[in-house]
Amino acid sequence: MNKSFKIIVITLCILILCISIILGIILFKPKEKEVIPNKYNANATKVMDELNIKDKINKLDYSKTLEVILENNLYQDKYLDKYIKIDYIEFPNFINYVNDLLNKNYNSEEINYLFKYYLDNINIFLNMDYIDILQFKDITNFDLNKLDRYLNYQKANNYDMKTVVTYVNIGLDLEGYSKYVEYTEEEAKNLSILVNKYHKLPDDYEPDDLVSLSYNVNYKLRKEAADAFEKLTSAGILDNIYFYPFSPYRSFSTQNTLYNMYKNRDGEAKADTYSARPGFSEHQLGLAVDVRSSTLNDNLTPEDYEWMLNNSYKYGFIVRYPKGKQHITQFMEEPWHIRYLGVDLATKVHDSGLTYDEYYDLYLETH
Ligand SMILES: [Zn+2]
Repeated sequence: MNKSFKIIVITLCILILCISIILGIILFKPKEKEVIPNKYNANATKVMDELNIKDKINKLDYSKTLEVILENNLYQDKYLDKYIKIDYIEFPNFINYVNDLLNKNYNSEEINYLFKYYLDNINIFLNMDYIDILQFKDITNFDLNKLDRYLNYQKANNYDMKTVVTYVNIGLDLEGYSKYVEYTEEEAKNLSILVNKYHKLPDDYEPDDLVSLSYNVNYKLRKEAADAFEKLTSAGILDNIYFYPFSPYRSFSTQNTLYNMYKNRDGEAKADTYSARPGFSEHQLGLAVDVRSSTLNDNLTPEDYEWMLNNSYKYGFIVRYPKGKQHITQFMEEPWHIRYLGVDLATKVHDSGLTYDEYYDLYLETH
């Protein structure tokens, strides 16, 4: 082998070595530290730098709530995950409220819900211990003004919250007659009006369209109810069900006499279970009538009652005080007492299986 060939080989080897070293330097150059883009404004960033949490925060989604919390030096590290999920709203003291609610153990979802639906009343929640607010989410008749009553009533009873809300709205957490709505004359004329121990008619209210029933000229109901009652009676006869009216419209003063008679005889507590106090009786509406089976002195036979439960709504009447509902209607079972509501509403109430007190609160009352 000649000398020049050796030199060429050595030169080539040196060249390959050099190229390898250069390539190695290029390919295996240590990576530069990853730069995490900053998503926050200068004031928030300054606070993040001071607290040394800039990278931690910028790895998460941007949150306006968090930005404002940082800017105002109200950041609490333990709530970072929650701040991110709280929707920002323009509202005085918003961020203070966020921290206050977090301190009370509300989670992000609950806080968003409170701000969305109860912003104007947020103080109610700031002034009380944590409550499971989302349990009211799907309860359409929930009324924030009654929140304390709902919570107290549930503590004292074993009902689910949906039932609690309806019962408290009716007034069942209060003694009957202790607190009631007093209707105007105009309101009293409404065919769908609810009258119970929490809703009173004006003392001097008397319907202006009372007409006599064919059974007895002294027995009166409002025109529409009277016509419907005649149809109901005829429909019964076709089904071999015979009943007659014995107590239709009663004036305030008649009810007063009646109630006081019962009270003197049985005592107030007992009388209240079966007779309404004056002003609180559906009979004063001219839309309610007590009926009797032709074979009985003071009631409907079980067969007639069954027929009434299943058919009266077709003529616009409901059985107002059915069996097993005393705790809601606040009156003992009265198979004989039917109330006119009109066919449409009576059908809906019948189909709902609810008492009128419940139905009214759920579907007719504005909350
Ligand atoms: Zn009655």
